[in-house]
Order: sequence, then structure tokens, then C-alpha cells
Amino acid sequence: MTRTDQRDVVAAVAARAIDGFTSGYGEQPAGAWAAPGRVNLIGEHTDYNDGFVLPFALPQQTVVAVTPRPEPLWTVWSEQSGERIDLDLADVAEPGRVTGWGAYVAGVVWALRDAGFDVPGARLAIASDVPLGAGLSSSAALESAVLTALADLGGLDLPVDDRPALAQRAENVYAGMPCGIMDQSASIRCRDGHALFLDCRSLAVEQIPFDVDAAGLAVLVVDSRAPHRHVTGEYAARRAACEAAARALGVPALRDVPADGLDETLARLDDPVVRRRVRHVVTENRRVLETVALLRAGRVREIGPLLTASHASMRDDFEITVPEVDTAVEAALTAGAYGARMTGGGFGGCVLALIDANRSEPVTAAVKNAYTAQNFTTPHTFTATPSPGAHRHT
Ligand code: ADP
Ligand code: MG
Repeated sequence: MTRTDQRDVVAAVAARAIDGFTSGYGEQPAGAWAAPGRVNLIGEHTDYNDGFVLPFALPQQTVVAVTPRPEPLWTVWSEQSGERIDLDLADVAEPGRVTGWGAYVAGVVWALRDAGFDVPGARLAIASDVPLGAGLSSSAALESAVLTALADLGGLDLPVDDRPALAQRAENVYAGMPCGIMDQSASIRCRDGHALFLDCRSLAVEQIPFDVDAAGLAVLVVDSRAPHRHVTGEYAARRAACEAAARALGVPALRDVPADGLDETLARLDDPVVRRRVRHVVTENRRVLETVALLRAGRVREIGPLLTASHASMRDDFEITVPEVDTAVEAALTAGAYGARMTGGGFGGCVLALIDANRSEPVTAAVKNAYTAQNFTTPHTFTATPSPGAHRHT
């Protein structure tokens, strides 16, 4: 997908949000705001270890068409759910009053109000082409689009740097989903043609050029469609193991374990499983830094082996992959990908592969054939150009 295609894609989603608004509310919206889903190029399960991640924004966006209203009421329609819901002051006064998809919207209003902002009441209509529940962060796209719209419409004095943490609170506290800061940071702060290098300890960000089009490359994303298995429990177990290991090693977080001399450090841990978990996090942080260094030097193709090594580490050391994603990675590599890895928290979700721009069809066919051979559900695939973060569309 080229940049022009990307703009067409956003325009099409925006048209649906605006049409939904006009037919539902009988007036034109004051404006429309867009925020993207994301994939993480590299740096998995490093966020809660105070480490590094490198996501980029997808062309697929969530668009919210909005008009402010004088009373403190928020009426929200979503094309995806087909429902229209009303939120009043009681709903946004404390977390958990609203469940289901409305929680993400109510959570944003709650988080803004809880931070002391005077949030304007509004009518909202939402459309999206970020796949829901595929690990591409449709939840962060929804939160980020709504937050950006309400902040702009209300003229809130809320610097962009401070927005991801508020959107994350909406998800963590209101919707009750524990997640790191990566998804909301990516949806809000990513730029066209760049990946976002985020230090999850300091929250410092740096835009790293990742212009795959200019390099004659493409990122193929494969939605494995593997049923998510035990995600919440396994996530909590990995997190607990990492935190316990940091305590045992006497460091604030695994980010502080140096990659040099790792074997000696690991020898201080009794449990071989915990040793492998630590090795994943430490080597993954180093791979993120190496990827960033290569991209800064314009050596895009050369990041391939780091992506593949990241996958092996997730499969063998962190043990968060499933046969569907391992199959997609193997098939993509065999079909000539420079590198491939699962992206996202694991136990399903998506795979990304770095390929020559003109190899999208054969690599896709190879992955689909491998799935057929194993009787897996046919995966969805698309190519992802690093796209802009949250912004006003019209
Ligand atoms: P992911 O963020 O990986 O897509 P999550 O489970 O975190 O998966 O979030 C998916 C949920 O977010 C959906 O089940 C729905 O409740 C909500 N959601 C996301 N986008 C929309 C949308 N456009 N309309 C309604 N709900 C949405
Ligand atoms: Mg999510």
C-alpha cells in the first residue's frame, strides 16, 4: 500500500463515520478525527520490564465524527457494534459503570475529567477498519481517536506527550484491561514513514525513519486468526516471572540486566524457566537497540535477521507463540522474507514479515498454502505502510 492508497483508505473510513453521523443525528459533524491501529516492529514483552519497543502506525484507522453539545452527555454510535449508547455524568464519574465497547469511550471521558479537564459533551459516530481483537490495537485506536477529538474540540490544554498515559488509564482503570503504554503511544505519537522508538521507563520517544516504500520493501502482516488461548493468565504469569526475576537479581527491572555477561547473570537464577524468560527480555531489548541503529543508518533490509531472532526468542525462551504463528513465520521465511516474527503479546495475533515490495503475492500464497496443509483457518493478510498517528481528518 502506497501513501496515496493510505490516504484513500482513511478517506473511505471517514466517509462512513460522517455518513453514520449525518443519518443518525440529522446534522453535519463539526469534524472528524482519525487514530490508527499499530504493529510492533520489534520489542515484545519489554514494555512492562521498563525496556524498549518500536511500533509503527497502520494505514487502518478508527475515525470518529463529532459535534459538541452544551449538556454533559455523550451519545456514541459505532458502525462495528451497530449500537448507539448514551453516557451521562454518572457513567463517566467512576470506572466500570459501563461495560463492553462503550467502556473505552466512557473511559476516555472519565480519564480526562479525572485529570481535571472540562470535557465537552458530544455526539459521536465511529467507523474503523482496524480489525477488532486481532492484536492490532483497535482498542487504543478507539481511545486515541476519541481523546484527540474531545481534546481538540474542547480546546483542552493537553500536550500530545501527555495524551497516551490518559488513554492508557481509560483502558487500564476504566475498561479493566492491563496493558503497557505502547499501544496508546503508537496510536497517538507515530508519524508517517517512521517507527516510534519508545523507552518505556522514561517515556522518551524518537521518530526512527522506516520508509519501507523508498527501500523497495514491504511489511506483510498476517492475522493468524488463531483462537486466543489463555492470554490473560499467561500474560500475568510472564509478567510475574519477570518481576520476580528482577527482585532476585536485585535490579529495579529486567531492563537493568546488561546483555554483556548475561550467562553469568542467568547462572544466579535457580529456575531454568525463569532463566529463559530473562534471556528473552534482555536479548529482545538489545535487538530493539540494534534495529534502531540499523534503521538510523538506512540499512532497512538488514533488520530481517533481528526480526527472526526475536521470533525464535519468543518461541523458545518466552514460550508465547502458537503453531499458527510459527507456521506463518516459517512459510514467509521459506518464501524469501528477509525476516519474520510474531508481533503482539502472543498466543495468537499477527505475524509480520519484511519482504521485497514485489513479493507480496508469492509470500502470501506460501503462508496460505502452509495453513491449508495444516488445516488452520485461512489467515487474513495485508501490507502495512508506516502511517500517521492520531490527527484531525476534516
Ligand atoms: P485489540 O485492541 O487487539 O483489537 P482488544 O480486545 O484490546 O483487541 O480490543 C477490542 C475491543 O475494542 C472490541 O471488542 C471492542 O469492545 C472495542 N472496539 C475497538 N474498536 C471499536 C470500534 N470501532 N467500535 C466499537 N468497539 C470497538
Ligand atoms: Mg487492545
